[in-house]
Amino acid sequence: MSISENLKDIKAGIPRETELVAISKTKPKEAVLEAYDAGQRIFGENKIQEMVWKQEELPKDIRWHMVGHVQRNKVKYIAPFVDLIHAVDSEKLLKEIDKQAKKNNRIIDSLLQIKIAEEDSKFGITIDDAQNILHSEIWKSLENVRVIGLMGMATLTEDQSKIKKEFSFLKSAFDRLKVDQDQFSVLSMGMSGDYKIAIECGSTMVRVGSAIFGERN
Ligand SMILES: *Cc1c(COP(=O)(O)O)cnc(C)c1O
Repeated sequence: MSISENLKDIKAGIPRETELVAISKTKPKEAVLEAYDAGQRIFGENKIQEMVWKQEELPKDIRWHMVGHVQRNKVKYIAPFVDLIHAVDSEKLLKEIDKQAKKNNRIIDSLLQIKIAEEDSKFGITIDDAQNILHSEIWKSLENVRVIGLMGMATLTEDQSKIKKEFSFLKSAFDRLKVDQDQFSVLSMGMSGDYKIAIECGSTMVRVGSAIFGERN
């Protein structure tokens, strides 16, 4: 199936209000353009350099989401244009995003990445860490970065009930934090293999790569 057919299929199977981020990492700009021509406007990348060159060469109304881990010294390269940073995992990174956003006269939206998978992933923080960040004085003083929700990745497994448990855990954490975070509106969870389960569990934003663009090398 073609990229546009894949997109159409996926869109037909998800609620209208669920945001679809097309993860174009490693794919050439022709592939992005094919999805763009089919109406897709939100694209996600996991490497700073790749996102920067794609942003330069592709239509300017594309909204670029950074879904990968971000090193603090590289925030400056994406600060002029990034639409949403999905994987914030420290107060130091938030401070740097705030600083670079200020330089660009923007407010940058971000999500805190919560570790929900049991596998030993390097990235993501606990709910307690997220709570501490959101209640800290430093956070309250940052004016150019806005934390609008949470992101998580489930364990890579065939066990659907396990995936469901992890996503449900994140959804309940999201609901708890939302009580005193009026700006919370995005729960980013679900990839090609598990986005349907994620939506059942309350995801508002799915990040789908290979199901749109085909397998990556
Ligand atoms: C690559 C990636 C995706 C998309 O993965 P697929 O399985 O190809 O859909 C989603 N989220 C993040 C953070 C990724 O790095």
